[in-house]
This record gives sequence, C-alpha cells and structure tokens, in this order.
Amino acid sequence: MVGYETHDYDVLVIGAGGAGLRAAIEASAGGAAVGVVTKSLLGKAHTVMAEGGIAAALGNVDDRDNWKVHFADTMRGGQYLNNPRMAELHAREAPARVRELEAWGALFDRTRDGRILQRNFGGHKYPRLAHVGDRTGLEMIRTLQDHGVHQGIDVHMEHTILTLLKDGERVAGAFGYDRQRGRFKLFRARAVVLATGGIGRAYQVTSNSWEYTGDGLSLAYHVGATLMDMEFVQFHPTGMVWPPSVRGILVTEGVRGEGGVLKNSQGRRFLFDDIPPLYKEQTATDPDEGWRYTQGDKSARRPPELLTRDHVARCIVREVREGRGSPHGGVYLDIAWIKEKLPNAAEHIKKKLPSMYHQFKQLADVDITREPMEVGPTMHYMMGGVRVDADTQMSDVPGLFAAGECAAGLHGANRLGGNSLSDLLVFGKRAGEHAACFARERGGVAVSEDEVEAAARRALEPFERTSGEGPYQVQRDLQAMMQNWVGIVRRGDELRQALDALAALRGRAANVSVGGNREYNPGWHTALDLESLLTVSEAVARAAIERKESRGAHFRDDYPQKDEAYATFNILVRRGADGEMRVERAPRPAMSPELQQIIEEMK
Ligand SMILES: Cc1cc2nc3c(=O)[nH]c(=O)nc-3n(C[C@H](O)[C@H](O)[C@H](O)COP(=O)(O)OP(=O)(O)OC[C@H]3O[C@@H](n4cnc5c(N)ncnc54)[C@H](O)[C@@H]3O)c2cc1C
Repeated sequence: MVGYETHDYDVLVIGAGGAGLRAAIEASAGGAAVGVVTKSLLGKAHTVMAEGGIAAALGNVDDRDNWKVHFADTMRGGQYLNNPRMAELHAREAPARVRELEAWGALFDRTRDGRILQRNFGGHKYPRLAHVGDRTGLEMIRTLQDHGVHQGIDVHMEHTILTLLKDGERVAGAFGYDRQRGRFKLFRARAVVLATGGIGRAYQVTSNSWEYTGDGLSLAYHVGATLMDMEFVQFHPTGMVWPPSVRGILVTEGVRGEGGVLKNSQGRRFLFDDIPPLYKEQTATDPDEGWRYTQGDKSARRPPELLTRDHVARCIVREVREGRGSPHGGVYLDIAWIKEKLPNAAEHIKKKLPSMYHQFKQLADVDITREPMEVGPTMHYMMGGVRVDADTQMSDVPGLFAAGECAAGLHGANRLGGNSLSDLLVFGKRAGEHAACFARERGGVAVSEDEVEAAARRALEPFERTSGEGPYQVQRDLQAMMQNWVGIVRRGDELRQALDALAALRGRAANVSVGGNREYNPGWHTALDLESLLTVSEAVARAAIERKESRGAHFRDDYPQKDEAYATFNILVRRGADGEMRVERAPRPAMSPELQQIIEEMK
C-alpha cells in the first residue's frame, strides 16, 4: 500500500492562473467548496507574465469599437475556424469582465479623461487592449488573488496532478503529489475544472515557463475527452535571441503597438514587401501613416508590423533564411527611432514599456531607448486544447470542464494578442459557474482505491529502475525534435519522421530512472512530466499531418496555400479503445444568421 492524503471538494480547479482563479472565485460564489491545485506558488502562474494587455471592446480610445467589431476581428484572426458562439460570448462579455476586475481593485493605465486606456495590437481594428504598462498579467493575478483569498478557497501550492479519476463515465477527482515532500494526494471532487495553460515546453525555443508541459490536455485525453485544433501552435514573432540563456523570452507586441519597427540587416522594413491581400486595405504602405496610426490617428492605417503573428513570424524566418538576418539569427526591432518624432522619446519608452527596458538592459546589456533589439520567433501559445461546450465549458467527459489556454475553440487557427487574458476571465467565470452547478445537481462520487494505488505505483516506477537514462536528455531530445520537425514551417515527410521519433522517445521515457528520494527531486518531476509532453506532441504532429494546407498558425511548406475544402472542419484527436491516438474531422460549428451578418458587414 502506498500512503496518500485525501481531500474532498465540490469543485477542484487545477491551475491558479487567470482562468483557474476566475473559475474558483465563481464556483465559490455559487456556494461550492472549492480547492485549487497549482504546480507552482500562488502568484507565479504563467498569467503573471502577460505584458501587452487584455482585449475588450470598451471603446474608450475609439468609440467606433464595439463587441461586433471585436467578434469579427477574432473570427478573421482565427481564419473562421473559431467556434462562433465562443467568439460571440467572448466579445460580448469581455468589457464587463474588465470593469469587474477594475471594481475588484485593478489599476489600469488611464486616458486623459480618466477612463481605462486601450492600446493598439496586431489584428485588432481599433485600440482595444486595456493595460497596465507592460505588466498587465501581474495586475490581473494580484487582483484575482486578493479577491479570491477572501472567498475561503483552499489552495494547494506546489502540487502536481498526475491523473484524473472517474466514477463510471463521470469525472470523480484527481490524484497527484506535493512537489516539496513527494507525498501523494487524492482530491475527490464532484466536478473538476482544468486551467493548466499551454504546451510551450514541448519546444526548444519558447516564451513559456517550466509549468507549461501540456498537463491539462494530456489528463483530459487519457480519461476520454477530445482534443481539438492541435495543429495550431502560435509562434510569436518577437522573442529574444541573444544571449543564449534568454533565448525565447517574449518581447511584447506592445513594442510594435507603441511604434517599434522591424528591419533586416540591410536596414529595410521588410514587412512592407509582403502585405497579404486580405489586409491590404487596412495596412499602411508608407511609414508615416503607420506611425500616425500608433499615435491614435483614426484616419491612418496600421503599420505592417501589426499584421497577424503567423505572417510576421514567417516573414522573419524568410529574412533569416535568405541571409538578411541579424548576427544571432533574428532581425532588428527598433523602438529607439521614435526619438525622431518625440522629443521625450526615452522617457516615453521607459514609461510605456518598463519591463522591456529592464529586460534588455539587464539580460542583454541593450538600451532599447538608444539601440535596436535582436528578435526572432518563439513558441508562444496553443490555440488547440480540450474541446468544450461554448456556453458551459464542459468537455465530453461529464463533470470535467476546461478554461483558458488549455481549452480549444475561441481562437480557431490563430489567436489575436490580448484575446487570451479576456478568454481567461470570460470562460474562467463560465467554467466555475457551471462546474458549481454540476456539482450541486449531480451529487457525490466514489473513487476506486485500486485505481489510486495503481497511479501511485506508476509514479514511483522511475525510482525502481536502475539502468535507464535520466529524464532530462529525453526531454531535451523531444524539444529539439518538435522545434525542427513540428515547428513554424512544416512538411509531410518531416511530420511523419516526427511520429517515428516520438515512438522512440516514448520507449526511452518508459525506461528513465531517477536517483534520490521523493523529497524535492526535480529529476523525478521531469520524469513525470514526460507523459504529458509526449501525448501533446503526438497530438500536434498527427493533426498537422491531417491538415494538408496552410492556414493561420499552421504552415505546410508542401501545401503552402489555403485550401477552402479544409475551411469546413476542425481536426479532433481522441484516444481509441485500443489506446492508440485517433484523428478525426468534425464539421465546423454552424454560425447563427445574426453572426453571419456581422461578418458580412465587417468585411
Ligand atoms: C510572456 C508572455 C506574455 C503574454 N502576454 C499576453 C498579453 O499581453 N495578453 C494576452 O491576452 N495574453 C498574453 N499571453 C498569453 C497568456 O498570458 C496565457 O495564455 C494565459 O496567461 C494562460 O492563462 P491560464 O490561466 O490558462 O494558465 P496559466 O496562467 O499558465 O496557469 C496555469 C496553471 O496551471 C498549473 N498547472 C499546470 N499543470 C498542472 C498540474 N499537472 N497540476 C497542477 N497544476 C498545474 C500551473 O502551475 C499554473 O498555476 C502571454 C504569454 C506569455 C508567455
């Protein structure tokens, strides 16, 4: 018998980022006894890193903005593969969620007349991102935490969930361990909300923190939930490229929103060379107009640097591949040039982009008020995730909900910047509300002790092996393979090679061994993360093979065009009865006539 401690909740929330905290607050307000589990400390979840802002059509800076424009922008950005109902709810409800955050104490930057200030961001027609300098996520997490702690929510910090448990068809809780002492914990719960974030650590170059190993997606997949849109992995165009120790760290789009321009080694703004026909009308063709746009001139068109992330990222890759890159394999991002336009440019940059100023000064010894930054694409965000019902956020498994980055549907083939923080609030709230309701209506659950014992024994296996390799090399090889073969530019033959490589890596992972004991043991933690990394990597590779076209964040070198036959369905990934991964196509959810009309009008 392996010992474990048991906790009982109505609603268990896995993850303490924006989505998890918002879900916990709402479930608790609905009368549920709520437990939150997080791999790291409260306040350290990935959401804290969000910089640029939160998208909501408040119309404070440009009164032409409203939910319909936001809805249409989100659908266009997602290449119409988004779940239209989710995009509608998101656009309609985001303003109320931002105002609510303000009422709970969030201090946003202000307009001259005291309203919440909003900034430009790629793909958004009007200035729409409410922000706090470039530290918006920090303010959001601080506010949600302050609000949440007064609700009597139990928080289990530094705990990792390893498996979900079921009672018949229904979810019944989760099993995991405390990362410091290595002790096992059973969380029995009538409903579970997954809010575990993304999968960045499946790649070598990423803006994501160590927590992002795709756990929520893998946990859901293994108990029978469906994953969707797994081929759509967003590479942010601007991550740091130098020095090597900081490669991948995000350089916020806010830099371009404030007037930063991208140049190649010849000093040319190469994005002017290649404006996609879809965006020709809205994109400036001369630098002055682009600058006027970033300064809030409503008659001007936006600069090409604010085109969608996938497009900008691919243009950067092209410049580097064709020999026009910077010395360390990126291109130049220049905000210092604005001194030609603004007398107090240095102060302005430090005020609007304080984190960026310090990040480059401290990590790369670059003063961004005087010299350009070197930047290149970095894996940033996962559009794919657990398929959920648009209104309730419940997955295909009764009682299992998902919200935030680990859920799929809102962003389609590509996410617009700023739409994640609003996603967390809108759908975190909905998940919490419906999970509490489910728990209330469906009553208690039973958990099989044998199942718990088996999960505990599986977790301890790496200690029992004495001859296997360590987990770090397997993790590194997986990340390098995904970067090379399932990265920003894909090809059928390489994707198939990736599947073979994953099968080999799975064999190695099943054989890893770790030394020491269960007390804070990073090697053991890494060994246990491998299952999630392998599962989500395989799902991405299989979905990418299935989509034989290029759309949004998914680019196939062997099928470089969009194929309208592929615009009609989403790709699903499920676990077959034989335990093998299956890929299916599901017709895209239908759009209501009202939403259809909005799209037509906005075109
Ligand atoms: C540098 C950076 C800047 C960004 N800037 C913006 C921006 O300006 N605007 C915007 O809209 N989006 C931005 N994003 C994206 C956005 O921050 C994320 O998509 C969002 O914060 C995800 O929130 P979440 O609540 O889904 O997950 P997270 O905030 O990552 O929280 C996940 C939680 O799950 C926990 N967890 C994971 N696995 C387990 C497990 N097995 N057991 C227990 N707990 C687990 C983690 O410990 C964590 O508490 C940015 C992302 C990055 C990396």
